[in-house]
Amino acid sequence: MSTLKAVRGTRDLLPPEVSVWQRIESTARAVFARYNFGEIRTPVFEDTALFSRSVGEETDIVSKEMYTWEDRARAQSEKSQSLTLRPENTAGVVRAYIEHKLGETGQLQKLYYIGPQFRRERPQKGRYRQFSQIGAEVIGPPSAGSESPLRDAEVLEMLATLLDELGITGWTLEINSVGSAADRARYNETLRTALVPLAPKMCVDCQRRAVTNPLRVLDCKVPEDQPIIDTLPKIVDSLDDASKAHFVAVTAALDAAGVPYKRNHRLVRGLDYYTRTTFEFTHGGLGAQNALLGGGRYDGLSEAIGGPKAPGIGFAIGEDRLVLTLQALNQETAPPRVDAYIAPLGESLNAPALALARELRRAGLSVELGDGSFRLKKSFDTADKTARRIVILGEDELQSGILTVKDFSSGIQTKVPRAELATHLGMPGE
Ligand code: AMP
Repeated sequence: MSTLKAVRGTRDLLPPEVSVWQRIESTARAVFARYNFGEIRTPVFEDTALFSRSVGEETDIVSKEMYTWEDRARAQSEKSQSLTLRPENTAGVVRAYIEHKLGETGQLQKLYYIGPQFRRERPQKGRYRQFSQIGAEVIGPPSAGSESPLRDAEVLEMLATLLDELGITGWTLEINSVGSAADRARYNETLRTALVPLAPKMCVDCQRRAVTNPLRVLDCKVPEDQPIIDTLPKIVDSLDDASKAHFVAVTAALDAAGVPYKRNHRLVRGLDYYTRTTFEFTHGGLGAQNALLGGGRYDGLSEAIGGPKAPGIGFAIGEDRLVLTLQALNQETAPPRVDAYIAPLGESLNAPALALARELRRAGLSVELGDGSFRLKKSFDTADKTARRIVILGEDELQSGILTVKDFSSGIQTKVPRAELATHLGMPGE
């Protein structure tokens, strides 16, 4: 029989590597809490229409990357429906915002999520079919200040803080404004006209985009098309005064907070719902897939999926890429060792060893439990790979209540009364 393997583009994350993921997630949770964000958990699958209406029909995600299936009705009272594994989480968060009438609180909603997303992309390093995103959204009625450029700057400053606290040095923040829906429509027409004589010289995707959604041409990565794209009109020249002023206020706040950024006129991002501020943090250590995270403002998204006016701004960090960056920077931590390894000397000591392990674990220590069938040498070898200290539990130790403890970093062996054992094992190495 052929052996079954994880599906192409998906991966198992095993210890000890998974500890890097845990550290990233706990740092993210701690930073988000300092900025008063609460966690939201939305389902991993949604009605397909949610993504086609928000992300956009003409985007790569919706046109070719979604895992979509027809979910058959189980009963006469049910209808079959088209469902999709979420390719991103912003649409789900905004759907939940509308469904739970969070706008009626009159408050800004500051929500973060951590979880898997699914896209049928061509797998390569840094690009998977199941990947994890850490993201956050600030959304609310305009009266709660959701359109304020201060919100954009605060989100960007929070991201700079998070990357710094994770130990990711050398990131670049690229930022742009894609203007209001009207600005974008105007720019799309400007581009469409400019592309008429140029498109025939470009790749097939660009030839199609030049007609269906000219803005997408700016996302093209084909090297031969780049000099042509550089000659196209810039979106900044299509922005109205309000969008220009909004962008100036975002950058002024970033300057005041000392967050460095670069303006990238081509940054329009791959999703249709963005308005005004768009941004990406990139890192040189990632190679071709150099985007660590991306995001922007989506002032019309809620209305596009049938909700009230609810401007917002958010981002999604590629957690897989954070891990790759930390590995490239050698910031991974050594696999953690447990506080103690208990070695029962003989199978008759297995049960008392479990009782001792229970006592120590309840005192808050991390403990690995050996087996009395092991020779002492094997116990020492195993303990030296996994624990800071080994505790020998023989018949004498059990009777006397005095245990033999060896510290692996110093090589010192000591006798410790059972009542003092937890305190002794909790101390840093001698
Ligand atoms: P997007 O939702 O496309 O704006 O992506 C946001 C971030 O998610 C990107 O900057 C990447 O870091 C990450 N990302 C997107 N697609 C993938 C993928 N297929 N595999 C791994 N990470 C991804």
